Amino acid sequence: MRFIYLDNNATTPIHEDVIAAMTEALALYGNASSMHAFGRDAAFKIEEARSAIAELIGSDSESIVFTSGASEANNTVFNIFREQIDLGSKRTRIVTTEIEHPSIIEMVTYLRGRGYKIDQCPVDNTGRVRLDELEKLLGEDVALVSVMLGNNEIGTIQPIKEIVELAHAVGAYVHSDATQGVGKIEVSMKDLGLDYLSLSAHKFYGPKGIGALAVRKGAPYTPYVHGGHQEAGRRAGTYNTPAIVGMGVAAKIAYRDQKSEEQKLWKMREMLREGIEERIPNVVVNGNQEHCLPGTLDVSFPHAEGESILLYLDLEGIQVSTGSACASGSLEPSYVLLSSGVDIELAHGSIRFSFGRYNTEDDVTYVLEKLPPIIKRLREMSTL
Ligand code: PMP
Repeated sequence: MRFIYLDNNATTPIHEDVIAAMTEALALYGNASSMHAFGRDAAFKIEEARSAIAELIGSDSESIVFTSGASEANNTVFNIFREQIDLGSKRTRIVTTEIEHPSIIEMVTYLRGRGYKIDQCPVDNTGRVRLDELEKLLGEDVALVSVMLGNNEIGTIQPIKEIVELAHAVGAYVHSDATQGVGKIEVSMKDLGLDYLSLSAHKFYGPKGIGALAVRKGAPYTPYVHGGHQEAGRRAGTYNTPAIVGMGVAAKIAYRDQKSEEQKLWKMREMLREGIEERIPNVVVNGNQEHCLPGTLDVSFPHAEGESILLYLDLEGIQVSTGSACASGSLEPSYVLLSSGVDIELAHGSIRFSFGRYNTEDDVTYVLEKLPPIIKRLREMSTL
């Protein structure tokens, strides 16, 4: 059976060079904090990875704090500002958006439940942050502004530079969850002017369970995980050498191939979008078509249900998602789509196709052959 993996925003396959480097690194059993030769060997490899990651995101090695992934990195940032507020800072409010990843949305719910003041800025009908609304929410009492770089469901890219300018003008720090952007589009923490940036290796052909928080020198910091002195006291826990090495190799490849991959992903995405629009009547493409992650295509098929489309495609070996993997399991329509003003019925009938480096134009041709009859059949069965 043919398998076509179009769920690269959920996670990517591991690059073969990453597997080779990780396999070798498994034998580097020395604890990277040990002062002897075996410890130093592991530490050397870790520092090599750190600089590759820093280069990929336009930052410096000292800024990188390894974490278990982007969820931990995001939680760490909110925890830093919760601590600042607890310590009596005059800045007592956090501003974020309605369409962040659950690792921020759930943190917002948790902190609000404990009395912290958090505002969620609305987005327009393409999922872009409304800068006019953001400006209204900003003030001298804002400690942190957190806005994701590219949305995992609809692919919309946010105007981070403008957001940074607005937030810095009132003295607030700015964080961006760049998990879906890193490796796919050019990301430079310095050019964007960010204070904090989160990323995760498994979104750019690295292993799962490893990521980083980049922290600009001078920005407030409080460890989330307390213990040993790893990461210059910023995050405790014995170094996961193979995962860090894998992330470093993935970062080097991502940096090397970013431009060509971006073009390739966009071409396949557009081929699929045009093909769907030609072959299937009455479809709605979600998200911003100008500011969009290159490999993400989110489409609503009125009168067909997302989960049914997903299962029928799965029977044909095509793997897609209805919204995000983190929200799947619940049959609730995507909050990202609802916040972007997508009608509830359309939100129920949406499918996210997300491309990666191992997809080909042949895959698109195959999907364009299998998808139209599925939608036709489901629409005929629909009571709507
Ligand atoms: N932020 C975004 C935008 C994501 O897409 C994801 C992964 N779905 C995460 C954060 C969480 O990353 P991790 O799996 O490394 O915790």
